[in-house]
Amino acid sequence: MRHVLDQSAEQLRTWLIEHDQRPYRAAQIRKWLYEKRADSWEQMSDLPRGLREQLASEFDIWSAEIAVHRKDDDGTEKLLLTLADGAGRAPAAIEEGAAGSNLAAAPSEGPSQIECVLLRDDKGHSSMCISTQVGCAMKCAFCATGLGGMTRNLTSGEILEQMLQLQRLLKPEERLSHVVCMGMGEPLANLQRLMPALAAASAKDGLGIGARKITISTVGLPAGIRRLAEQNCQYHLAVSLHAPNDELRTQLMPTNRHIGIEAVLAAADEYFQKTGRRVTYEYILLAGVNDGPTEGKQLAALLRGRPSLINLIPYNPVRGLKFRTPRPGAVARFVEILEQGGLNVAIRHRKGARIEAACGQLRRAMAAPREAGAASAGGMATGK
Ligand code: SAH
Repeated sequence: MRHVLDQSAEQLRTWLIEHDQRPYRAAQIRKWLYEKRADSWEQMSDLPRGLREQLASEFDIWSAEIAVHRKDDDGTEKLLLTLADGAGRAPAAIEEGAAGSNLAAAPSEGPSQIECVLLRDDKGHSSMCISTQVGCAMKCAFCATGLGGMTRNLTSGEILEQMLQLQRLLKPEERLSHVVCMGMGEPLANLQRLMPALAAASAKDGLGIGARKITISTVGLPAGIRRLAEQNCQYHLAVSLHAPNDELRTQLMPTNRHIGIEAVLAAADEYFQKTGRRVTYEYILLAGVNDGPTEGKQLAALLRGRPSLINLIPYNPVRGLKFRTPRPGAVARFVEILEQGGLNVAIRHRKGARIEAACGQLRRAMAAPREAGAASAGGMATGK
């Protein structure tokens, strides 16, 4: 069986023609999938029954199963999806409120599980945070996903499916407004498969989310940033900087060893020049590691004169790692130094803290038996 979400509009039209069907049926199918939130071929009532049967025998709509569905009181919802190739498939979805987690009934961690998150704000907007790979090869020292290593790239259909699964959690009147590629994986290491998925997300006959409302967050791979810039597709680029000098950045982010901050910044500058889109720099705040006045001043000097926004992300604790989250006073002092240095600064809100919504945390929590009384740390960092 093939995954229908792996088919572009053009490929669907070709399939229809090859099967003696009218090509305009592709538009009907896409409307059912993206707009009318259909779950099955059967539901697509304006398609002839024979065509529905033919489609059902050739294409799956869903390639993943919901293994865990968690909801936080702040409206954040998180899905742990088990992919079709995976071990540890759950027999049925486990619905959990933040309070009554039933971890014992959850499947064990398999290499084939990915996470995606729906975040709601008080203006009726909802954002999706999606994964681009199963695991991640970048091995950032503070990241839960990196601890497990990398299994494989997601297909375009698997990336898109996360968006459709999350869309189905919305009430009919709710709308998706933003997509951020800040889940598991390094988006620019899977750009070839990510681009068709984002094309469907931004297409008018797809999910209709404007390209400017789609953020690609990267560990900072210059070649990937340039490739993205050449396509000039107006996506918002966020670069995970996390340290103002190479020594510290290499300690925190091993990919920096052979790249270096200057090369990352040069590629990001090019992205701005080619697209006119201001780049966001993400900076995780790790108490006593990169949050002092020295680092603040270095960071301000590094980014001075670059049209950019710096997004500070207080560290979300990951079980088994020794980093600490800075106290609010330390965060405020860091902000002050950056602002005095002339930078635009935002601090990320934490959402979904009680459902382990941050990148890689839920999958990890499912794998490790929870120690009695251990705090449920987490929180999806959202840029607002
Ligand atoms: N590979 C991409 C996407 C990763 S997740 C990237 O590196 O940008 C999105 C952001 O969350 C990145 O900035 C990442 O460094 C950050 N992040 C990872 N683990 C975190 C943690 N425990 N606390 C806070 N932010 C974290």
